[in-house]
Amino acid sequence: MSHDSQPTLPFQSAIHPEVLDCTHTIPFRCHPDIACFNACCKQADVTLTPYDVIRLKHRLQLDSSAFLEQYTVPFQMDSDGLPGIKLKTDNTGACLQLAGDSGCGVYSDRPTVCRYYPIALLALKEKDAKTSKEQYSLITEPHCLGHQTDRRIAIDDYRQEQGVVEYDDMNRPWYQLILKKKSAGPSIGQLPQPSLQLFFMACYDLDRFRRFVCSDNFRATYQLPADFYAELAQSDEELLQFGYRFLRQVLFGEHSIQEAADAWEKRVEQRREVWELRRQLEIARRAAAEDAKYECASDAPNSSCQGD
Ligand code: SF4
Ligand code: SF4
Repeated sequence: MSHDSQPTLPFQSAIHPEVLDCTHTIPFRCHPDIACFNACCKQADVTLTPYDVIRLKHRLQLDSSAFLEQYTVPFQMDSDGLPGIKLKTDNTGACLQLAGDSGCGVYSDRPTVCRYYPIALLALKEKDAKTSKEQYSLITEPHCLGHQTDRRIAIDDYRQEQGVVEYDDMNRPWYQLILKKKSAGPSIGQLPQPSLQLFFMACYDLDRFRRFVCSDNFRATYQLPADFYAELAQSDEELLQFGYRFLRQVLFGEHSIQEAADAWEKRVEQRREVWELRRQLEIARRAAAEDAKYECASDAPNSSCQGD
């Protein structure tokens, strides 16, 4: 099988084991009485998906910007600086969501990586394929004793047991966006800073993205029905799916959102006004700087302008 992407999305491990399909069975059982209980959370390296952010910000009753600020750290998902986020840890490496000996403090809303562990999800795209497919690998780390069990479970059953199916459904367009960016290579090239910022906002900072989408400027640019805007204003999940569409349009030119007929002309007109304002400000700034020079010169003790 030929892949145009390494199997590293979105969850990376130092271990690179064989690629498994969903029918593969693994020996694994994790439970609160196991000797290593919480050992994994004390060495947490948890990359968050957009749907993880929705679940956690609701759980912690924070808006997305406050959640990002308090509980995450940014990192670059690729060499072009595509932004990702990880859960913040304390200075011993323990996840901030760990609630002492009782385990995860956000268990029913725990992130995708935590649900999958010790399985790594691999979003793979074969050369020339339109969509990606998901396969898996097994992570075996010395601190995790869950592998020492007689229970064998198929990966698909483990996904059901851990409630990860819903997460994958919500995140799948995100995996595909990242793979598309990666496999597009030089034809997309390094995304400019505003595009990277837009990616961050639409994927992680959803409450800010909502304000952007509901702004007068956005509404004047894109033709969407009023009830659709009302839905986006209410539902984070709908807004996230819209964000994926919007990013595909902006980053890859895949048009699925109708622009207003004269949107481009209006944008140019608005930009022209801004450019003109900037030009006038620059002229005023230079004139003020020139005046200041002459004032300085006339104030100087040896100035030739100084009278006797
Ligand atoms: S979110 Fe919960 S399960 Fe995941 S690392 Fe943190 S404490 Fe552990
Ligand atoms: S068995 Fe593995 S996943 Fe479960 S608590 Fe222990 S280290 Fe964590």
